[in-house]
Amino acid sequence: MLRLAAVKPLTQVRERTEELERASLSTWATLAVESKGRDRYEEPDPLRTAFQRDRDRITHSKAFRRLKDKTQVFIRAGDHYRVRLTHTLEVAQIGRTMARGLRLNEDLVEAIALGHDLGHTPFGHAGEEALSVFTTEPFRHNEQSVRIVERLERGGRGLNLTWEVRDGILNHPWAMPEPATAEGQVVRLADRIAYLNHDLDDAFRAGVLDVDDVPVEVRLSLGETTSQRITTMVTDVIANCLDRPVVALSPGINDLQHLLRDFLFERVYLRPESNAERDRAIHCLRSITVFYLENPERLPLEFRGDAPLIERVCDYVSGMTDGYALAEFARLFLPTN
Ligand code: MG
Repeated sequence: MLRLAAVKPLTQVRERTEELERASLSTWATLAVESKGRDRYEEPDPLRTAFQRDRDRITHSKAFRRLKDKTQVFIRAGDHYRVRLTHTLEVAQIGRTMARGLRLNEDLVEAIALGHDLGHTPFGHAGEEALSVFTTEPFRHNEQSVRIVERLERGGRGLNLTWEVRDGILNHPWAMPEPATAEGQVVRLADRIAYLNHDLDDAFRAGVLDVDDVPVEVRLSLGETTSQRITTMVTDVIANCLDRPVVALSPGINDLQHLLRDFLFERVYLRPESNAERDRAIHCLRSITVFYLENPERLPLEFRGDAPLIERVCDYVSGMTDGYALAEFARLFLPTN
């Protein structure tokens, strides 16, 4: 006769993880069990903490999949350049290393990191510039990321994420108030460490910069290679913040970070040679936007709701991948034969 072993309630898996968090994480860590919760109550998951569940929801979202074909800096430059998805994964990796070192909540860091750029337009920041002429407030990708997780995903129901994940996503740009959690602050810093280093690496790849162009102080103190520079910065954050309620680079490395950032703005992001490509991207997105403002009945069904037209058009256009936007432009404005 078959005898079944007694099965322990699966909720013990999640509860054990929550106990481990309480026992092992720093005083300044955010415990999943102490989350401020979701806008709509849900029964806890038997296996995963609230933050693990948020991370998984983001990974399974449509907006996350679209990141694979959204420009980071170099527009459709080739298979070895960063796109928004690989940038996102690099932010998550750097953030998780910092969180582990500082005994912060790695799951919360990962969830915020994977979600932070969901609202990015096609063609990088040129897309924000393109849409901002139509909106009363400048179009900001971080606000759009929150709109996606709160209102647009899952047929308009949103992902119903915890407050801490949404706070970290909203406040990841440095122009915003400081994120409320230490984990949100980790992602904000990891985002900057990631992009400074990978944009520099892609600038070498594109022939826009030569290794010798990098300020000598940066090469001497941060390192000669991408790997060395990331290691220096991540190690510095952990050494600087061990057992302290701050998330920051030490003053000396922070000065070098600013030097590298100023250098990248001058020589890469704002270089005159990139203007022509940026202007073409802006022309493409503005043309599509004007078309749908004038022909709202041509919007896909999911964007024909009750929200103001400009919001629905921005939701549609900002959600496009680079490839989709180019195909849409061709479909609307170019002769087919
Ligand atoms: Mg980012």
